[in-house]
Amino acid sequence: MVCEDCENRAVYISLSGRSLCSKHFKKYFEKKVMQTIKRYSLIEYGERILVACSGGKDSTALLSFLLRLMKNKRENIAAIAVDEGISGYRDVKLNGLVEFCEENNIPLHTYSFKEQYGFTLDEAVKISRENRLKIKPCYICGVLRRSLINTYARRLGFSKVATGHNLDDEAQTILMNYLRGNPSLLARLGPKTGIVEDEGFVQRVKPFYFCTEKEDAIYAILTGIEVDFVECPYHVENYRLEIRDFLNRLDSTIPGVKHSLVNNFLEILPLLKREYSARSIGRCRVCGNPSAREVCRACMVVEKIKPFLGGNVNREQ
Ligand code: SF4
Repeated sequence: MVCEDCENRAVYISLSGRSLCSKHFKKYFEKKVMQTIKRYSLIEYGERILVACSGGKDSTALLSFLLRLMKNKRENIAAIAVDEGISGYRDVKLNGLVEFCEENNIPLHTYSFKEQYGFTLDEAVKISRENRLKIKPCYICGVLRRSLINTYARRLGFSKVATGHNLDDEAQTILMNYLRGNPSLLARLGPKTGIVEDEGFVQRVKPFYFCTEKEDAIYAILTGIEVDFVECPYHVENYRLEIRDFLNRLDSTIPGVKHSLVNNFLEILPLLKREYSARSIGRCRVCGNPSAREVCRACMVVEKIKPFLGGNVNREQ
């Protein structure tokens, strides 16, 4: 198969049947991302952007893309990474990210659960299992990571946090929240997350929102980013895995089903945001972060784990 824009060998065939070589695929991908950024006003000129990096291909590819996009304002871009303390996984992923940031001269801000909360994710999972606390690893991980990133993005003075979420991720999250009956969580989704504006929240944006997992992987490989397939040991306990496999099976028999799910969801998203925007946001009485509850989810997790720890617990305010 050859590229439809030149005679070179195609590396990609789109849903609509377009075949593209590496050069034209990169153009197609970057154009799609630029259209998303413009259409949803994800990044304005002169804004300081913090890229939430996991060491995986999506966030590293996003960092690489934004570096090129903001080449005249490189000082406005930095990376943030959270080391949850997942032995044999996050440490490996973060090594690659450190190298990438050093090679490209990008400031990297790294924070760990251990120094911020007093325990690693591995320790929290062990405590939860031994004491039947019934808190899932991914819940602990996601809630604490989001809280840390928001706190430090605000303190460091960034106006947006960019994440590498792609169309597959969004389709999974939409379906998970539909099936769990979580309309208020659905309302927070979209290319720009959140429902209410609050000076305590740093807006999260997803420039790769309309790019599929496969497109991200091809783009990462073509831009020289090392793609590994190391998976988190806790991913098997994640409900998302079942949804991911289900959607992939469905998409192989009904091509484009993930696109339809996301596009249809975007039609109703403004209504959901309007419905839930009236809810008031206060401050968590423990950490002071914005929260719809008296105590935010992150502090609730820490409060449950804390009694089972030996020493003192750090909780930065
Ligand atoms: Fe965290 Fe779960 Fe992802 Fe592992 S699979 S990094 S525990 S959210």
